[in-house]
Amino acid sequence: MRLGTYSVDGGAPRLGADCGRAVLDLDRYSHLHDGLRLPADMLELLAAGPSARQHAAELCGHFLAELSTHDLAQDAEAGLAYARDRVRWHAPIPRPRKNVFCLGQNYAAHAAESGNAPPTAPIYFTKPPTTVSGPEDAIPYPQGLTTRLDWEVELGVVIGRGGRDIPEGHALEHVFGYTIFNDVSARDLQFRTSQWFKGKSLDGSCPMGPVIVTADEIPDPQRLRLQLSVNGVKKQDSNTGDMIFSVARIIADLSAGMTLEPGDCISTGTPQGVGDGRKPPEYLKPGDVIEAEIERIGVLRNLVR
Ligand code: MG
Repeated sequence: MRLGTYSVDGGAPRLGADCGRAVLDLDRYSHLHDGLRLPADMLELLAAGPSARQHAAELCGHFLAELSTHDLAQDAEAGLAYARDRVRWHAPIPRPRKNVFCLGQNYAAHAAESGNAPPTAPIYFTKPPTTVSGPEDAIPYPQGLTTRLDWEVELGVVIGRGGRDIPEGHALEHVFGYTIFNDVSARDLQFRTSQWFKGKSLDGSCPMGPVIVTADEIPDPQRLRLQLSVNGVKKQDSNTGDMIFSVARIIADLSAGMTLEPGDCISTGTPQGVGDGRKPPEYLKPGDVIEAEIERIGVLRNLVR
């Protein structure tokens, strides 16, 4: 399933399934069928556990099977489904309950371009919920605050089943799905001190989306090509197989003595090709369009403004 948070005509954001030419409203569609009623909010779906996810998958299958016979205009009037081009996508989790957990220097070639040896233990930092924005939101350019705004495409992990001390061998069973993050970074603020937090935490500096692809569709998260371009010029092109610490290892390490909960988000680090590591360095400016793409997930496209 490709699950996201959508709105139509400026209405309230709601949980939706991307079904190709149509976006299905899972809450309203579930009212027409036997079984669980599904929530209208992604975090509530995550909290509802595997039975809700299973029911959502069944409803998506049902809708897709009858989609060719559907009158989408009629569906839209009932609020059940909308033509894809009528829908605005928001961040799949518009407001995470916690900071996004992030990995630093998790690709050897990126560590090298940053002048560092590959880390021997995962490096963590976080981005507050106020950084999270959607696939159709602009990235604010804070004039006067930074002159070194940079890009970072990253595979995002959304936790479905919480836990503590999760063994690496079972870690992927805790993943609800995968998404794309752009870990936008103000390098001057990031490197002013040894703690990167401030430079990673400007409003709107964590575009997320366009959707969450459920884990059953990505059995191996370490075999995904990830790329990023600025104004159509390729800047990053790598594979999640090059991560130093795998998704499973990260979940095991992060959850050691620290509880992970449904809806927690982990951004797994960026490969080589960031602006700050280029010779000469390159930075974002207002008007730039960034496209962050991960195989099987999609494209996260944002304008800098
Ligand atoms: Mg990063």
